Amino acid sequence: MTVNRLIKRLDGDDRVELLRSVREADVSPYFRVMESATAPVVQVEGHDKIMLGSNNYLGLADHPDIKNAARDALDTFGSAVTGSRLLNGTMDLHLELENEIAEWHGTEGAMVFTTGYQTNVGTISAVVGKQDVIVVDSAAHASIRDGSLLSGAEIRKFAHNDLQDLEEQLRKPVDGDGAVLVIVDGLYSMEGDLAPLGEITALCTRYGAALMVDEAHSLGIYGEQLTGAVELFGTANDTDIRMASLSKSPSSTGGFIAGSNDLLDTLRIHARAFLFTTSGVPAAVGASLASIRLIRSEEGRQRASRVLANAEALRSGLVAEGLDVGKRSPIPGGDTASPIVSLHIGDDLVAMDLWRKLFDKGIFTSAALHPAVPRNGALLRLCTMASHTDDQIRTAISTIAETVAELPS
Ligand code: PMP
Repeated sequence: MTVNRLIKRLDGDDRVELLRSVREADVSPYFRVMESATAPVVQVEGHDKIMLGSNNYLGLADHPDIKNAARDALDTFGSAVTGSRLLNGTMDLHLELENEIAEWHGTEGAMVFTTGYQTNVGTISAVVGKQDVIVVDSAAHASIRDGSLLSGAEIRKFAHNDLQDLEEQLRKPVDGDGAVLVIVDGLYSMEGDLAPLGEITALCTRYGAALMVDEAHSLGIYGEQLTGAVELFGTANDTDIRMASLSKSPSSTGGFIAGSNDLLDTLRIHARAFLFTTSGVPAAVGASLASIRLIRSEEGRQRASRVLANAEALRSGLVAEGLDVGKRSPIPGGDTASPIVSLHIGDDLVAMDLWRKLFDKGIFTSAALHPAVPRNGALLRLCTMASHTDDQIRTAISTIAETVAELPS
């Protein structure tokens, strides 16, 4: 069969070999089967696990009000939209969500895509062309890299959060009338650290570059209005393209861009990942809208401070046990916790062994192995939720510490 000839070419690819061998030994951290809603404790393959491996930071995925909103949207608008936004796929619910996001961000407008991945791919490839240059953090999300490749622009990576390297890339000349777009994540999903947005924004201004910030993991967590890292750093007005996913704190699916009408008009015409796909299903759009309204309420503020308090408890508990969880991120006037606590391990196989042992003891974590992280930079990604109890955090700390101590040295 022809497809086997294609698959055969992947033989020898480290990643495929690793996946095969760990699957055979049933130690794979990937594709495990969840049998319940995303919550602090989940059923995985017949057993309860404390969930430290989800992006459900605010704990809204099983919130009764959000589920009701999804149900109402389903009842009113049906199960599907059966068309793209351009044709029959724009319901008033999509516009209501976009208006809510624009008002929340204080921007001229907002545009909702079906997924966050498509938001990055569609936006970057629409606004950047072959004559331009993209300067991107080496740890930026895969969707940013894919959108950058699709744009045909020259791509200059800078070392993660390294301002000197960023400046070096900005200093290099650009051919003809090409423009420069700098792209960073507000909060990095693997390392759990924030981008130093004050300095990054100043460098963009100095070198005449535009700036796009992906707030997938920082939306609903940081800033007075909880719109993300740019608000925390006070750089929102100098950020040209504000992107976020609706699949993490807002506990739905989708993604959005908040920005000027000129930017959004360009995207409406040129973003192929927006134009040529079916728009978000009513249940997801209804859930996103209800989540954002909740995030903007007093309950949202309480949940945001609770997830950070839980993360700080987890982090300081692990540090007290002598474990390496990296540093808190500097912010204006101090530093801050992050809902993502990265337990640095180094070796892929040791990380996988630890993942499996924790899994067997009832703790679900995410293993980040090369190439999701640099070679020998394997880590277990531990994420807290606002709804984790103190007891669950304490159990996680003691189980992790005891299990790390049992690893062969
Ligand atoms: N950006 C970042 C930083 C992400 O981590 C992700 C998803 N993990 C995305 C974009 C894509 O978002 P979505 O999952 O909504 O497609």
